Amino acid sequence: MMKNESPKMSRRAALLKGSAMLAAIAVTVAAGTQPAFAADAVKKKKKASKDEFFFQEEPGEGGKTCAGCVNFEPTTGTKGTCALVEGEVCTTCYCQGWTDKRTGKKAGA
Ligand code: SF4
Repeated sequence: MMKNESPKMSRRAALLKGSAMLAAIAVTVAAGTQPAFAADAVKKKKKASKDEFFFQEEPGEGGKTCAGCVNFEPTTGTKGTCALVEGEVCTTCYCQGWTDKRTGKKAGA
């Protein structure tokens, strides 16, 4: 803390610094390059709700499905889990987090 800086200002500065760091992580993750610290932050974060990713129980445009998504982890039969979205998903489901498991390209990219 600087000489003329109050404790309140230090907390504010710390919050701003934290916000900037989170924004940097979000930009890095969105850019598709995940350094170890960003990957850890994503892992520690609670998964998103299905509504947040506009989840649907039918294929997306162009036949995109969870089965073809890098975030899909099969469990039994046509069911599975997702690295981004909470709860059970299915091989014929789809959401806006879809990322091609063969190329790593996101939907619409
Ligand atoms: S990100 Fe979306 S499309 Fe991909 S596995 Fe998860 S729910 Fe399915």
